[in-house]
Amino acid sequence: MDTLFSTSHGVIPLPAFLPDATFGQVRGLDAQDLAACGVQAVMMNSYHLMQKPGTTVISALGGLHAFSGWQGPIFTDSGGFQAYSLIRQNSGFGSFSDDGIHLKNTAHGKKITLTPEKSIQIQWKMGADVLFCLDDCTHVDDADSEQVLSVQRTVHWASRCKQEFQRLMENTQNDADRQRKLFAVVQGGGSRQHRETCASALLEIGFDGYGYGGWPLDKDGNLVEEMVGYTRELIPTQFPMHALGIGHPYNLVRTFQFGYRLFDCAMPTRDARHGRLYRLRGEFNTRSLDWLDYIYAQDEKHMRDTQPIDPTCPCPTCQHYSMSYIHHLHQINETLFARLATIHNLSFMAHIIRQLRGEAA
Ligand SMILES: [Zn+2]
Repeated sequence: MDTLFSTSHGVIPLPAFLPDATFGQVRGLDAQDLAACGVQAVMMNSYHLMQKPGTTVISALGGLHAFSGWQGPIFTDSGGFQAYSLIRQNSGFGSFSDDGIHLKNTAHGKKITLTPEKSIQIQWKMGADVLFCLDDCTHVDDADSEQVLSVQRTVHWASRCKQEFQRLMENTQNDADRQRKLFAVVQGGGSRQHRETCASALLEIGFDGYGYGGWPLDKDGNLVEEMVGYTRELIPTQFPMHALGIGHPYNLVRTFQFGYRLFDCAMPTRDARHGRLYRLRGEFNTRSLDWLDYIYAQDEKHMRDTQPIDPTCPCPTCQHYSMSYIHHLHQINETLFARLATIHNLSFMAHIIRQLRGEAA
């Protein structure tokens, strides 16, 4: 299994955790902050960016790297997962068909059909280093008939995405473009058989890497470990696998043990903004799940606490600020709170990742 993943914007040591930079930004942080947190690459959201500020605008501004100031690798998702989440919550947002995803209610009030080709064109124009195929996402508890349809569509769409990706690759004279990579997403819900059907069809088409698709948690919020592990077994180890949406520190470690090497999740940054800060309880290890401590910024007990969030943490927040100040910023609803808290949680994730890199080497 490779320990490095190369892109035209740098080599990523594996494993790597990618914070979600939904609209081209990790909320509250700029590109320099991200680098200070030890972030190696980010995951941006083509579904949101194609609406605000729009694909044409981003392309005219020189692509996502020039636009956002982040010069490291950028992954973009296809929009399939966002569309699935929105349509699942409210069918008024749109519908799925064999040809793609039809969105009725977009930010600018226009109707959009996100076909596999269009999804690739959008990600390509935005300048992503790693593009994802459009997929038809399901929940692990959805009916079997829906899982069958999801696998059929996901494979069919992946084939169309690959063709479009190859066409764009053949038409470019740019060396950086030639280093772009395309990942496909393995669907199949909670069925081993469907996962196997999907994985073998995608392997036959051939991609640079693969993602675990579908909602990764069960109805109680627990990682669907068996299916996540089994899906990794279906993909030969020379291909990197991305655990989409998996980023709770314990779930990340479990998924790493199954052989996944790329992760992205909004949880560490969202937790930070909500005052839930991560800290190690004792020594980090991969044998037990008892090393994560939560510190709640809102707790009154921190009012006179002169210690940082974590005295052993080398992050800029812990090097310069006490828990009393962090608590105060939270209580007065100061935007600086989100920045300092997010810097700390992302630095914590980077620390966990460095520990796992030691195991992967
Ligand atoms: Zn810290």
